[in-house]
Amino acid sequence: MERLIRKHLASFQPYKPIQPVEALSEQAGISVEQIIKLDGNENPYGCPPRAKRALAEYERYHIYPDPSQRELRRKLAEYTGIGSEHIVISNGSDELITLIMRLCLDPGDGVITCPPSFIVYNVFTRILGGRLIEVPRDSRYEVDVEAVKSAIDDRTKLIFLAWPNNPTGNASPSEEGILELADCGPLVVVDEAYHEFSGLTVAPHVLQHPHLCVLRTFSKWAGLAGLRVGYGIFPQKIAQILYQITLPYSVNVAAQIAAKEALEDVPYLKARVREILQERERFYHRLKEQGILDPLPSQANFLLCRVLKGSAPELKRELDKRGIFVRYFDVPGLQDKLRITVGKPEHTEALLSALDEITR
Ligand SMILES: *Cc1c(COP(=O)(O)O)cnc(C)c1O
Repeated sequence: MERLIRKHLASFQPYKPIQPVEALSEQAGISVEQIIKLDGNENPYGCPPRAKRALAEYERYHIYPDPSQRELRRKLAEYTGIGSEHIVISNGSDELITLIMRLCLDPGDGVITCPPSFIVYNVFTRILGGRLIEVPRDSRYEVDVEAVKSAIDDRTKLIFLAWPNNPTGNASPSEEGILELADCGPLVVVDEAYHEFSGLTVAPHVLQHPHLCVLRTFSKWAGLAGLRVGYGIFPQKIAQILYQITLPYSVNVAAQIAAKEALEDVPYLKARVREILQERERFYHRLKEQGILDPLPSQANFLLCRVLKGSAPELKRELDKRGIFVRYFDVPGLQDKLRITVGKPEHTEALLSALDEITR
């Protein structure tokens, strides 16, 4: 059997996704409704009501979806201000990450990442037989553009930058730094999963830079993580080939309906984003006052916090027991930290009192 499996996959470190809420509920012995889930950067306000209604009323789930998602792409062109011929929609932006790699990588080709960052880039580079080139961030999690440039060799195909970065929450390098890298040869993939929270984007530059692309998702700001819709903005040529190599129906009917409805209801969603941003500022200051976790400034919907009292994994275990779930990464640079999604004010309060109780 083993000889059938590609060698490098037999002994391979998989990505550890977060647990489903039912498993968390069972683990804590607390009902699903009472779980406080702050580990996935999901939207605490849920799916937009308009999307729920449209999903309930739809009559043609027995028909295959539009493989080129014409209507949704038209709406995204309006939303982004960029022509639909540049837009590729996918089953979550994670799918686009792997598609870009499948488009560009021959075995041994280089992929630059700047850890600590989104681990999916590393995992899929390995799965596809690429060569991972890690250029670590500095102690303030800033990307060193010069170091990235000197790490580029003649087989480097891709540079992945989460901007703002997950899990650190900062947006580095600067826009100028990104554009500088986009002139260096490899394709620069700017992952803007948190764009609606940061207000930052390099999307308009894709039209002038043939080696630049942008990834976005409906998972975080639009409350559709469970439906899996992401998209990318690409030079037209790349967009065309990506559609040729993707699975024809990977974006299902429900996902397309929900994303279209979300785009019909942007003012509603932007109001929720503003609430989350207000709560992020309040949460940040409350944590600073409390003195148990030290949050870093963030441009996204989560705070990376250094644990000041006790150890991070221990604190996480204690929070787990109380039905409050946060994210811990057992990797260099993050072992003394927890990443906590910004929830509703009542989630913040429950977390703060749990922290008090645990460290008392
Ligand atoms: C959450 C996240 C994604 C994944 O988004 P999906 O569209 O749900 O696949 C991609 N990149 C970053 C940086 C993220 O934090």
